Order: sequence, then structure tokens, then C-alpha cells
Amino acid sequence: MRPRIPIGILGVTGLVGRRVLARLADHPWFEVTEAGASDASVGMSLDAILHRAREDRGEVDAGRTFGSDRSEMAPNVTQGGVRSLSEVRGLSGEWTAPILVSALPSSVARDVEPRLAAAGHLVVSNASAHRADPSIPLVLPDVNPDHVELLGTDGGILTNPNCSVATFVPPLARLHRAFGVEAVSVTTLQAVSGAGSGGPTVLDLADNVLPNIRGEEEKVSREPRKLLGRVVDGRVQPADFVVSATTTRVPVLHGHMVDVSVRLRGDPDPAEVRRALDDGHGEVFPEGPTLSQLRIRVHDDEMRPQTRLDRDLLGGMGVTVGRIRRCPVLGVRFLALAHNLERGAAGAAVANAELVRIRGRIPGVPA
Ligand code: NAP
Repeated sequence: MRPRIPIGILGVTGLVGRRVLARLADHPWFEVTEAGASDASVGMSLDAILHRAREDRGEVDAGRTFGSDRSEMAPNVTQGGVRSLSEVRGLSGEWTAPILVSALPSSVARDVEPRLAAAGHLVVSNASAHRADPSIPLVLPDVNPDHVELLGTDGGILTNPNCSVATFVPPLARLHRAFGVEAVSVTTLQAVSGAGSGGPTVLDLADNVLPNIRGEEEKVSREPRKLLGRVVDGRVQPADFVVSATTTRVPVLHGHMVDVSVRLRGDPDPAEVRRALDDGHGEVFPEGPTLSQLRIRVHDDEMRPQTRLDRDLLGGMGVTVGRIRRCPVLGVRFLALAHNLERGAAGAAVANAELVRIRGRIPGVPA
């Protein structure tokens, strides 16, 4: 067996960073050797954060309180992919792992990620700061794995998309390949955890829907075209279709639902669209523990997808599609649902980390 690859996490204390930690703690290819957050968190025990992460994911009893005995608090830590006795560090100074997963706010990522990339690290980022740069790859492994060719082997930035985009673009990509997308109109119903630790709670939003998420509609309109675009001369040329988006926040804890209307070349009927969407073709990447979970499930029950029933499909990595029907305006309409913190963030980043390992893009690590 190959030795595990050292990996670091930036923003490990946040909603996404904790889930990245939980995923990597049990990962056979990587070992978390360093993890950072803001000065307020420096010195916190990674064991404690991992325990919290496992509570977040429902893997341990959230009712247990922290005692003084940390080994009791996080009994599995030393058996997983996290070096024991690690503490949260600050972001400044040198990092040693060749690959770093960033779950930083964009305002922080804007300067920190290029600095670390220039120092020779491959930064796999959840933040939006560099997603729009045509020379920086924006990748969903089941949609456009070839865009990692924009990376060299001596560091860089690889981004994963906005969490609503990660929900509806996997099915949209299948339709693009099968027919060709001409126009898209989407309305998102986004969970509160999509707003991060400082966002509203479900109770704050009870009996209410927020009609706009600032800055989100631009991302949801722009990123699908980049994901489905082509690499030409070291830059991504966006796909040639338009996207109209409305993004809303609803009183749901986790899981984004997206209502998608699409005009497809040839105007296929819903049965043809269903066939193109169905996951009958098997896994895209059977060799990666997270990559192999990048699946789409199509439901024929008109009451699916439902957030609480479907968001945890395949550890939160599955996309559930339903309500495929004729749209009198654009031709076809369907709903897509996925877990925003897993398929839309932490799991997407870990899947990208697996992809760059397979493609030999981690500095100093052969394919
Ligand atoms: P979050 O819960 O607010 O976590 C932010 C993390 O960044 C924390 O670890 C925080 O550390 C750290 N941080 C904040 N300011 C810092 C600073 N000045 N220096 C160093 N570290 C700092 O946010 P999140 O929801 O996890 O989101 C993280 C990133 O993923 C964001 O860019 C977000 O847009 C993106 N994203 C989120 C989702 C989602 O569903 N939430 C989905 C896709 C993408 P402290 O705890 O020490 O403050």
C-alpha cells in the first residue's frame, strides 16, 4: 500500500472545514498533518474538532458532553488519518503538506490561496474568490475532470463550485452531453447551513423565505457555463448558453433544492430526458472512495426529492433528481437536490483531491 499523502485544511473549524476533517480522518489516501483557522481558534484540539464534526454528521451521539478526558471524547482519532495531538494553527507561516483543502471565507481566501499556491502547494478550494478566473480550474469530477489539465505539477489553485451549482450541474451536464443545452432557468431553495457559521438558523427563518442571497445569482449564472466549457490555450472558454437564476434561503437545515427549466437542442420529450439523466452507466470513477459516490438517482415518485429523505444519499454525495416533466416555456423541467455541505462543499473538495492524486497533479506525488 502507498504511504498516505500529507494534507492540510484551511478553515478547519467552520461548517465545511469540519466536514472536510471528518472525511479525511477516515481516508485511505490522505493523512491530515496540519489544520488552520483564525487567531481565535489557534491552539484548539483537532481531536475535539473532529468529534464535533462527527456529531455534525450524525456519526456520534451529539448529547454527550465534553469531559476532561479527551481520549474518551474522541476515541477513534488516533486510528484515523489525523495525527494525534494536533492543534489548530494560524494561517501565516510555512505549511508543509503538498495539498491543502481550503474552507476559508472568500475574503480571506483571496490573498491566502495565491500565496500558498506560489509557495508550491496545490490548494483545493471551496471559496468563490478565484472560481471565475478563466486560468484557474473549476471542477466537478463527474462533469469536467479534464479541466485539471490547467494545473501544473508544482502547485496552484483548484476550485469546486457554488453549492447550488454542484447540485444541478451534474444532471445538466448529462443533458448537455446527450442533447446540448440552449437555455436554463433555475430557482434555488437553499438551506441555512449554506450561509456558514454566521448565517441564520432554521428558527430565524421559520415562517419565512428570504427572496435573495446576495452575490449568489451571479455565481449560479456564471459557473455552469465554465464547468461545461472547454479548455483552449490555458483558459476555460465558457459554454455557449444563458442561465437565469433566482436564489432564495428557506428554513431547511441542510440540503439545497433547485428547480431547473431547460431548453435542449432537438426538444426531447421527458422520457428521453429521463433516460439521459439516469445513472445506468455506473460509476464515473470507481477507484476513488469519494469519487465513486458521485452518482445521480432519478426518482419517478412525484413526491421526491424530499430534503429529509434524500439529502444523505451516499454520505451526502448523491444528487437526487425528480419531477421530470414537460415545461411549456423552455421544454423540460425537473428538481435536483443535494447536501450543500457534502456534495456542495466538503465532499466535492475531497473528490477533487482524489482526482488530482489520480491525475498526478499533487506536487511531489507521482500519479
Ligand atoms: P464558516 O462556517 O464561517 O467557516 C469559516 C472558516 O474560516 C472557519 O474555520 C474560520 O475560523 C475561518 N476563518 C474565518 N476568518 C478567518 C481569518 N481571518 N483567518 C483565518 N481563518 C479564518 O464558513 P463555511 O460555511 O464553512 O464556508 C467556508 C467556505 O466554503 C466559504 O468560502 C463558503 O463560501 C464556501 N462554501 C460553503 C458552503 C456551505 O454550504 N456552507 C458550500 C460551498 C462553499 P474561526 O472558526 O477561527 O473563525
